[in-house]
Amino acid sequence: MTTPYLFINLDRVEAAYWKFRRCFPEAGIFYAVKANPAPEVLRLLARLGSQFDVASPAEADACLAAGAAAGDLSYGNTVKKSCDIAYAYRLGVRLFAFDCQEELDKLAAQAPGAKVLCRLEAASDGAAWPLARKFGCSAESAEALIVEAMRRGLLPWGISFHVGSQQTDPARWEEPLVRTGALFQRLAGRGIHLSTVNLGGGFPARYATPVPDLGVYRDSIRAALDAHLGGFSPHVMLEPGRGLVADAGVIVTQVILKSRREPAGRSWVYLDAGKFGGLAETMDECIQYRIRSVAAAGPEEAVVLAGPTCDSADILYERTEYRLPASLEEGDRLNILSAGAYTASYASIGFNGLTPLTEYFGRGGDAEAGEDLVMLQGAKED
Ligand SMILES: *Cc1c(COP(=O)(O)O)cnc(C)c1O
Repeated sequence: MTTPYLFINLDRVEAAYWKFRRCFPEAGIFYAVKANPAPEVLRLLARLGSQFDVASPAEADACLAAGAAAGDLSYGNTVKKSCDIAYAYRLGVRLFAFDCQEELDKLAAQAPGAKVLCRLEAASDGAAWPLARKFGCSAESAEALIVEAMRRGLLPWGISFHVGSQQTDPARWEEPLVRTGALFQRLAGRGIHLSTVNLGGGFPARYATPVPDLGVYRDSIRAALDAHLGGFSPHVMLEPGRGLVADAGVIVTQVILKSRREPAGRSWVYLDAGKFGGLAETMDECIQYRIRSVAAAGPEEAVVLAGPTCDSADILYERTEYRLPASLEEGDRLNILSAGAYTASYASIGFNGLTPLTEYFGRGGDAEAGEDLVMLQGAKED
């Protein structure tokens, strides 16, 4: 099997789905397709009963092709072309998110009568991969927009927010839920009864730093829902992306070159997987994957890790300390763990003539990547 490739253990995707199900039995689980849009993943989740958060016509088509119904899709992107709204509406999608007047105008014109979620701004503190600034509005604007949505023939359905991806602090959902509760209250006073709270994604994967168990997130979120929205008994939506697929994936890569670079004489390890080949989230060293040597062993040394392209931005980790066996040499393989989310979907289509990240799917294996790789013998190239 030539490297680099991404191996997804579908059993682990399935286990992650059931864990969300068990922790949030009443909630609608809408898988955020952008995290890994592979048909194998979508088909599995559709079969398990998952719903889907989509951001484009192509993602909506992919979910329908995987067996989902249009009524199971939420068009959660707040930035949509008019023609794309119309397309989704023709497919039968009836739930859309927005966060400003201009987008509301488009929805009123292209998706009459549809249910709408207004997205509140939320801080991304505690998140390794922030999603603030670009999305969401103030509670004050949301109130006015929801009243306007009603007037324009849309169905005000609820409030959504996203506390940032790889959110390591389970308490971060509370503050937006305080504002959501106040909004439910104020709008009820104006005769508009919202039904739904969309808690977004943010549930973490297991990267270099351990994270709390999903049960801790559930407890914190449930307490905040009771405290701030208890009187409304809202329907809850979740949109996990990373939390469903990241830990199911391993990227297998090999060393192209190892050298000592001046002036400091640090050891540089150049891999055949880099920022443009799936590891985009190493930008600013935000996401810190666990990286394991497959065969090389023995005493370790600190290394700088870089990708294969002719671009100096293609350095994975220079400030963060990574240690690998000093005996590592050309051709040795490394496993990049918990790499199932935001990797294949971020890989470039041919920068420097390098092939996009190949994806393989299998089942079985144990917690460590090495076990998964046994399964690869039977895995077919797609
Ligand atoms: C990306 C995205 C998600 C998924 O976020 P994760 O942190 O990967 O769980 C959920 N909802 C929306 C609207 C998104 O854009």
